[in-house]
Amino acid sequence: MTAEQTEERPAAAAGSPRRVDVVVVGAGFAGLYALHRLRGLGLSVQVFEAGSGVGGTWFWNRYPGARCDVESIEYSYSFSPELEQEWEWSERYPSQPEILRYIDHVADRFDLRRDIQLDTRVTAATYDEAGGRWTVITDRGDEVSAQFCILATGCLSAAKRPEVAGLESFEGDWYHTGRWPHEGVDFGGRRVGVIGTGSSGIQSIPVIAEQAAHLVVFQRTPNFSLPARNRPLDPEAQAAVKASYPALRERARRSYAGIAVPAPSDSALAVDPDERRRRYEAAWEAGGLMSMTTTFADLIVDKSANDTAADFIRSKIREIVADPDVAEALTPTDHPFGTKRPCLDSGYFETFNRDNVTLVDLRRTPIVEIVPSGVRTTHAVHELDSLVFATGFDAMTGAVLRIDVRGRGGSLLREKWAAGPRTYLGLATAGFPNLFIVTGPGSPSVLSNMVVSIEQHVDWIADCISFLRAKGIGAIEATVESEDAWVDHVNELANGTLFPTANSWYVGANVPGKPRVFMPYVGGLPIYRATCDEVTADGYRGFSLTGTPDAEGPHRPA
Ligand code: FAD
Ligand code: NAP
Repeated sequence: MTAEQTEERPAAAAGSPRRVDVVVVGAGFAGLYALHRLRGLGLSVQVFEAGSGVGGTWFWNRYPGARCDVESIEYSYSFSPELEQEWEWSERYPSQPEILRYIDHVADRFDLRRDIQLDTRVTAATYDEAGGRWTVITDRGDEVSAQFCILATGCLSAAKRPEVAGLESFEGDWYHTGRWPHEGVDFGGRRVGVIGTGSSGIQSIPVIAEQAAHLVVFQRTPNFSLPARNRPLDPEAQAAVKASYPALRERARRSYAGIAVPAPSDSALAVDPDERRRRYEAAWEAGGLMSMTTTFADLIVDKSANDTAADFIRSKIREIVADPDVAEALTPTDHPFGTKRPCLDSGYFETFNRDNVTLVDLRRTPIVEIVPSGVRTTHAVHELDSLVFATGFDAMTGAVLRIDVRGRGGSLLREKWAAGPRTYLGLATAGFPNLFIVTGPGSPSVLSNMVVSIEQHVDWIADCISFLRAKGIGAIEATVESEDAWVDHVNELANGTLFPTANSWYVGANVPGKPRVFMPYVGGLPIYRATCDEVTADGYRGFSLTGTPDAEGPHRPA
């Protein structure tokens, strides 16, 4: 690739769109790394980001207690050994401000900002078959023509408010955890309500309880939560990791979830109850998601095995929570452990022993409406000054489908995915040439350490574009057959686990009307990565490669 082959040229005529090689939508971990990699290939890249800063998840989710639940040493880019060595993490689990500082550092260190347009939402992307290019339109009136379009829009970026009537009448202030004000919120002396007890609620509730005069937690479904046991990182331990970082990264890449822990081999049912309890206690004391989820090999595939872990966690809730009725209400019984994303907490269950905290069990007394003074349930009006929605996201498809993406023949992606997302490898979708999705549905994405999955996807996409350019191929498109086979494979694997039994956001159950389809790939990173690599080695098996470049444009359809 020479400089002349890239396309950052002025528009040919007044009114015609600016031309670049690649448009990337989103400037979180995925969009930033995509920009860096593609620039390295000599391509011109335009990134659009709706937020007023880079960082994606870590730009938007500034709620009290927001923190990663993958350890900092592993929740970080591996592409630059220098970056790995120079960045010092301060805690076992990095807080949102620390991750945002890291991402800002990455943006500066690799001089990324000059190709990122902030405060700009992509509203439409349309494929022009004749020219073999995407026209990307934004809410600020930009129109850019690109050969490739990469949706790095995030799996958990389309924030979702609950379907509760009356919010407009509320006289207090309200917030969504995924759109938290940058200046922070002072809950001192206020009566606060939190709706939602997923990861965001469970992280924020203990911190808000310490600030507020009174906190009411509105819980629809109790969740399994494990102690984080966060702590400062010992500099010597960090130095030891850095001394052999490549080996750690390699172990992470070869692990099921992109986290360097050994894979378990025992069944939970193959050991005697004392030994089982001993292992669960050790995992509980160690803290973190992985200790408990990797205690035994069959927790996510065998209900009886799963029950042993679920019962252990339930016993811990009863031990911690002083009031037996509150403990009972906080105890998850409607889904197997791990089938909804388990949460990590710092003092969540203990918070319900505080005098200024009330739990409202919405299964017994559902919310009727929001009223000017607070929240009315079937039992009472809870008077509130502030309301926090920790109600999650339209996950995995929400951000993609909020864009009018039109492929060959003007077909709309939203319509194509009306019965659930259909992709090949979670990377591409038939009928939409030269469109890539980073950590899309059908890939391990949210079941893994996302930074590891993001790097793998971006590397695959960059290698693919490099190959197409080198061979003079204009367009790559997943075939319908390969997509159908992949969707079947993803479903078949999921159906061999307990995952689909839960009403989780993995199946879209949190969004009324969303088709119930298990979206992530459960086969694990090593098999997935090997499959992607085989597809590449096989000349992009399952894709059709068409078109040749010409002098006028990047290619004409063959
Ligand atoms: P994002 O960070 O979501 O970035 C996508 C960006 O695209 C956003 O900035 C958004 O504004 C922008 N965008 C979307 N649509 C448009 C559009 N139409 N036009 C312009 N811009 C657009 N993962 C883990 O592995 N471990 C964790 O512990 C973990 N903790 C999390 C905690 C929270 C609170 C949340 C919400 C998610 C967490 N995740 C975690 C998942 C997290 O989303 C990923 O780890 C990672 O940050 C995703 O990066 P991304 O770049 O793919 O997407
Ligand atoms: P979530 O897991 O989807 O939780 C949303 C909560 O809001 C659930 O308790 C849900 O109840 C409740 N809710 C939704 N609509 C409601 C309504 N109309 N009435 C009452 N309650 C309602 O969302 P999240 O907590 O933001 O987390 C989403 C994902 O982001 C996580 O699973 C995780 O992957 C990631 N995340 C990670 C961390 C971390 O620890 N690093 C932190 C935050 C987020 P139901 O369960 O009944 O639907």
